[in-house]
Amino acid sequence: MRKHEERRVTGTVRTIDVDRGDAAYRSWLKEAVRKVQADANRSADTHLLRFPLPGEWGVDLYLKDESTHPTGSLKHRLARSLFLYGLCNGWIRPEVSVIEASSGSTAISEAYFAQLIGVPFVAVMPRTTSREKCRLIEFHGGRCHFVDDPRTMYAEAAALAERSGGHYIDQFTYAERATDWRGNNNIAEAIYSQLRLERHPEPAWIVATAGTGGTSATIARYTRYMQYDTRVCVADPENSCFFEGWRDNDPDATSERGSRIEGIGRPRMEPSFLAAAIDRMMKVPDAATVAAVRALETVLGRKAGGSTGTGLWSALKIVAEMVAEGRAGSVVTLICDPGDRYLDKYYSDAWLAAEGLDIQPYAMAIDAFLSTGRWPG
Ligand SMILES: *Cc1c(COP(=O)(O)O)cnc(C)c1O
Repeated sequence: MRKHEERRVTGTVRTIDVDRGDAAYRSWLKEAVRKVQADANRSADTHLLRFPLPGEWGVDLYLKDESTHPTGSLKHRLARSLFLYGLCNGWIRPEVSVIEASSGSTAISEAYFAQLIGVPFVAVMPRTTSREKCRLIEFHGGRCHFVDDPRTMYAEAAALAERSGGHYIDQFTYAERATDWRGNNNIAEAIYSQLRLERHPEPAWIVATAGTGGTSATIARYTRYMQYDTRVCVADPENSCFFEGWRDNDPDATSERGSRIEGIGRPRMEPSFLAAAIDRMMKVPDAATVAAVRALETVLGRKAGGSTGTGLWSALKIVAEMVAEGRAGSVVTLICDPGDRYLDKYYSDAWLAAEGLDIQPYAMAIDAFLSTGRWPG
C-alpha cells in the first residue's frame, strides 16, 4: 500500500467572484411578479360569442371577445406575458424605463402593467395612431413618442432605450416566445375549453389576424401540439407584406406603406410571425374589412376595431365554403378590440371618403351571403 502523500498548496489561490444578488432588487422582483400574476388571477376568461347563422347550414361561427380584457384588447395577454418574461429574465428592473414600438394597443396594455409594477413607460408609435389610443396610454401613466415613418419605429425605440438606459421590450421579436403556447390558459386552450359543450367542439378553422404574429403562432402551435385537425387561417389587410412573404416563402418581403387597419398588417416579416405554422392566408381588401366590422354591429349589436372585420370577412368566406361543400363544423375568429377607439375611422363615412374606400359592394355581398348562404361572385 502506498503511503498517503501530503499535498500542499503553494502560491495564491484566486477566484474572480462577482455576486450581483441584491436583496432589495429580489424583493422588488417578487412583488412585481406577484402583482402581474394577481392581475391574471382577478381576471375572468373572455366570452366566446355566437354569431347567429341559420341552424340548417350546419356551420357555427364564434367570436372570442378579447375586447373585454381590463385594457380592452387581446394585447392584454401579450403585455402580461412580455412583462413576466422581462421580469423573470432580469431585464425589467426598478427605475428602468420600459420602451415599446407599438401601433397603439400593445402600448395601452403595457402602460397598464408598467404602472402596476411602478416603472416608467414610453410608447414609440406612428403619428397616425388614433388620438383615443394616445389618451389611453397617458391615462395609464405612459408617455407617447411619435415617428412620421412607421418603418422607423423599431430603430427609434431601440435608440431611445440605448440613450436612456431603458429596456426595449420588443413585442415583434418576443411575442411568440413570451407566450406559453402549450397551454396555461392561453387563447387557444381557452377557445377549446369554451367549445366543449357545442355541437362541433373541435373547430374546422380558427381565423386570426397578425400584427406581431404572436396570436396566430400560439393558436397554430397549440392545435398541432394537441393533435387537433383544426386549420389556422390568417387574414391580412392591404399594405401588409405578411401574405406575400408567406405565399412566396420570402422572409425578406416588405411593403411600402403602413397598414390602415390598426393593430395588424406589417411592412416587414416580423420575427414573431411563424409563417410555416399557418395553413392558409387571405388578403382582405380594407373596404371588405370595414363592411364586415359594420355588419358585426348590425348582427351582434357591438362595435369592434378594424382587425375584427378583417378576420370576420375571412371567417364568413370559410363558412360559405363549408356550406357550399355541405360540410358541417365550426369556425372561430376573434373580436380583437372595441370599436369606440375608432369612431373617427372605420365608423366615419368622412374617413372612408377621404381614404377612397367604397364599402358598398362588400356590404351587399355580406347581406346576400347571410340571407342566402351563398357567397356572391
Ligand atoms: C395586435 C393586434 C392584433 C394581432 O395580434 P398579434 O398577436 O400581435 O398578431 C389584432 N388586432 C388588434 C386590434 C391588435 O392590436
